[in-house]
Amino acid sequence: MARSTWRVARLAGVDVRIDPSWILILFLIVSSFDARIVAAFPGTEPASGLLLALAGAIVFFGSVLVHELAHALVGRRRGYQVTGITLFVFGGATHAKVADRRPGDELLVSVVGPLTSGLVGAGLLLLASWLGGPDRGAPVWLLAWLGTINLFLAAFNLLPGLPLDGGRVLRSLVWARTGNPVLATRVASRAGVLLGYVLIALGLASLVTTGDLGGLWSVAIGWFLADAARREGATSRWRRRLRGVPAAALMEPDPPRVRGDVDVASAIADPSLWRRRDTAVVEEPAAGDSVGVVTLRRLTAVRPEHRSATPVADVMDPFSRHPPVDVHSDVGRMLDGLLSERDGTVTVADGGRVVGVIRQADVGRWLQRQHARGAAP
Ligand SMILES: [Zn+2]
Repeated sequence: MARSTWRVARLAGVDVRIDPSWILILFLIVSSFDARIVAAFPGTEPASGLLLALAGAIVFFGSVLVHELAHALVGRRRGYQVTGITLFVFGGATHAKVADRRPGDELLVSVVGPLTSGLVGAGLLLLASWLGGPDRGAPVWLLAWLGTINLFLAAFNLLPGLPLDGGRVLRSLVWARTGNPVLATRVASRAGVLLGYVLIALGLASLVTTGDLGGLWSVAIGWFLADAARREGATSRWRRRLRGVPAAALMEPDPPRVRGDVDVASAIADPSLWRRRDTAVVEEPAAGDSVGVVTLRRLTAVRPEHRSATPVADVMDPFSRHPPVDVHSDVGRMLDGLLSERDGTVTVADGGRVVGVIRQADVGRWLQRQHARGAAP
């Protein structure tokens, strides 16, 4: 679940990251804009058509960002701890740490994104018509097209199923009506799965009846939606079952330790580090204080020719960024961090001393063990 993303900007105190899949979408958008411009204005020179398509893609990128920023800024005003925005293949996601949210806040934070897209869309269409309408030339035509896309984004995001904004609106409404956030998440997550299947079915139907490959988009988006909706439902079940469970119950105790000045090649080659786990605590060479954590995956991501010249401390996840949690802290409350933070690793400390590590997989294993013991599902 945790994936590596690239940080590209920091706007109004919010980290903006892009998922590597964004490169693919940028390429697809530029080529689709370019094809449409050439089709609508056959006299367009190839170079200026491509440049215009690129400019259009940047405006599109900007409008997705504005949508997410609206969520982030309103969320922050409502007391959410907004940790960042990630733009990925089908749009964006705003990350906020779960505080004790209220349905009214969630409704407002969710609805403001599509509302912003709607306003941006209407603004672009008005601008295009003020400039003489889409027939005036390729740039104005493109503005109008971007306006239409934003209106579409507003409508699509309001579809009532998680993980879409409309799904969060649905959840907040069910929550407000029943006073039961767990039931509300279940309803909105099932609605999201159903919505995903409907999109898959519509895409397949259009593929079969018209032979238009555009139907594949609908299938892919439906697949993604259904999967994400199922995951949101599972995360909510996990959070409920892990509430009140201390970190000590899930952690793998006595993690292996490696000095920060050891080079990456030697650390990878040291069998004592990786006998049981794929995670090691990094210690400061002189005083032996724990300063961070490193996974085998992160070490092997260093290019082989650089491994012997790179100290482990250079690639670790330092505690200055992700500090350890206390051994008594509630796993249900740290679940979001565990599922989204880099490497999906949480370090556990007791009175300042690192005593264990929890990995994403440990959560699933713990739940399975509880289930096998016949604990309430
Ligand atoms: Zn949104």
